[in-house]
Amino acid sequence: MAQEERAHALLSASSAHRWLNCTPSAKLEEQFPDTSSEAAQEGTIAHELAELKVRHYFHPVDFGRQKFTRRVNKLKKEELWQNEMDGYTEEYLDYIKVLANGLASKPGAVIEQKFYYDAWAPGGFGTADCILIHGDTIHIIDFKYGKGVPVSAEKNPQMMLYALGAYDTYKLLYPIQNIKMTIIQPRLDSVSEWGCTLEELLEFGKYVKERAVLAIDGKGDFAPDVSTCRFCRAKAQCRARSDYNVKQAFDLGELPPLITHAEAGERLARLADVAKYQKDLQEWALAECLAGNEVPGWKAVEGRGSRDWIDMDKAFEALQASGTPEALLWEKKPLTLAQIEKMLGKKEFDTCVGSMVVKNPGKPALVKESDKRDAITNKITAAEAFKEGE
Ligand code: SF4
Repeated sequence: MAQEERAHALLSASSAHRWLNCTPSAKLEEQFPDTSSEAAQEGTIAHELAELKVRHYFHPVDFGRQKFTRRVNKLKKEELWQNEMDGYTEEYLDYIKVLANGLASKPGAVIEQKFYYDAWAPGGFGTADCILIHGDTIHIIDFKYGKGVPVSAEKNPQMMLYALGAYDTYKLLYPIQNIKMTIIQPRLDSVSEWGCTLEELLEFGKYVKERAVLAIDGKGDFAPDVSTCRFCRAKAQCRARSDYNVKQAFDLGELPPLITHAEAGERLARLADVAKYQKDLQEWALAECLAGNEVPGWKAVEGRGSRDWIDMDKAFEALQASGTPEALLWEKKPLTLAQIEKMLGKKEFDTCVGSMVVKNPGKPALVKESDKRDAITNKITAAEAFKEGE
């Protein structure tokens, strides 16, 4: 691996949240392969489509209709292509259009460009989805196709590293004083926006510099935590995470007969990563056992198998021949709303049946206080009680 690529792998923008919090993680992760999931490959296709749309919108001369259509048709032949990608990328494009049209004049638009932030993190660079520059403001817009958890733009280190790279590139051409960042996750209906001044960005740059010096040498303290460890390639074998979770689960201190609400809250927070860690460790130990390595006290076995027809058509023929009516052998099931939306794409779905969809309230869920949703209770409010009594 070339020095630059190695450094990028070490101090990449997408893993910045991790190596800034837990500086030794960058070097430790080097020992593990960087595998790509099907969801990530799907995300790559959606990203390419998003890029083509934004490029065609801002550069219709260089990247005209014919070129655009040819490239999109090529993407549609990809195995993981989904029609719904069209609608989701349209939401991203719409956001950019509204933003660009709301500015006093046409902004400079930079699409899928590599930015170097190596003045702060040696060898560091990342590719930003879309950057608009207008007057003294840089707008950084990031498209995330995942449907895991909504990602906040507020003080988001990945976005701030792109911002540092973009500032470094354009500081002589534009009087940059403000940075605006947006993360769009259309599959989660989430748009997160945040802004800071150049001064605040450069302050973050100083922090990056201090942490990068440690990270590049694998120094500093391990900082296990549920969000920091989530995507770390060392997460199953890392001793710091293992010790941390064992401590969270077993180091209870004094044992009063009943725990209080305050203690329950504190323990829930402390146990947040334990179940996840146990699952990661189980997956890793199973892979080791299957590879013929010994994990004392554990072994891999064949799970409970399932029965299947050797030839379903022939089996059904035999059943019908012996008197079972065909109607009893099949059940007619409607596709779910999400499956139909996936099949048609969001736009067509909305046009055709969007007005026939009702959103039912979800099951109550316990989340951290920092969650942006409003808290709910089963208690009847005074207003409701009054209404009932009417
Ligand atoms: S698993 Fe967690 S604590 Fe261990 S190196 Fe990775 S981020 Fe750091």
